[in-house]
Amino acid sequence: MIIEQPAEVFRWLYPNALWRMDRNKKEVYLTFDDGPIPEATPYILDVLENLDIKATFFMVADNAQRYPHLLNEVRARGHRVGNHTFHHIHGLMYPWAAYINNVLLAEELLQSDKLFRPPHGWINPKVCQKLNAMGWRIVMWDIVTRDYSNRLTADQILNNVRKYVRNGSIITFHDSLKSIDKLKLMLPETLSWLKGQGYEFKVFD
Ligand SMILES: [Zn+2]
Repeated sequence: MIIEQPAEVFRWLYPNALWRMDRNKKEVYLTFDDGPIPEATPYILDVLENLDIKATFFMVADNAQRYPHLLNEVRARGHRVGNHTFHHIHGLMYPWAAYINNVLLAEELLQSDKLFRPPHGWINPKVCQKLNAMGWRIVMWDIVTRDYSNRLTADQILNNVRKYVRNGSIITFHDSLKSIDKLKLMLPETLSWLKGQGYEFKVFD
C-alpha cells in the first residue's frame, strides 16, 4: 500500500470529504497539522511569508489554548485556521456524540474557518455526515509527506512531495516536535521547487 498517497478505497469511505481539489488547475493546498507550538509554528510562518504563500493550519485546541498568541498570529498573517479537535482524539475510539462535542469545544476557542480534519485520518462516517450537515468541510489529503516519521530523512520527505504532487493536491505537513527538525531542512527547498514547477498555492475559500 502506498501510504503517501491514499488509495481510492479510503477516498470512497468518505465521499463528502475533500481529498484533492481541482485536477485541471496547477494549484496545491498546503496544510499543517497539530500545532500551534512555539518550537515549530513561528518558523513555518516565516518561511511562508518569505515566499508569499498562504496555508491552512489544522490546530489542536489544547495547543491553541496554551499559545493563544500563535493562533492570533496565524490569522493575522492571512492563513486559514482549521479544527483538529480539542485533544487530538481518535475518531474510532469515541462515541460520535462525544466526538462532535470535542470538535465544538475546540471550535469555541479556535473560531475556525469551518474546516475540519480528523486526527489520524479516521472519522466515524456518521460524524462526517453530521458535521457536513452543520456546514463543515472535512479536509483529508492527497499527499501525506510523513514528515513526522523518524524513519524518513528530510530528503526523502522532499522526494515524497516531488513524486506524488499533482494538480489540486492537498499536501499535509505537521507543525509538531516530531517534524520540525526535518521541516527546517526541507520546507524552504520544497516550496521553492513547487513554485519552480509552476504550482500556485491556494487556501480553502
Ligand atoms: Zn494530527
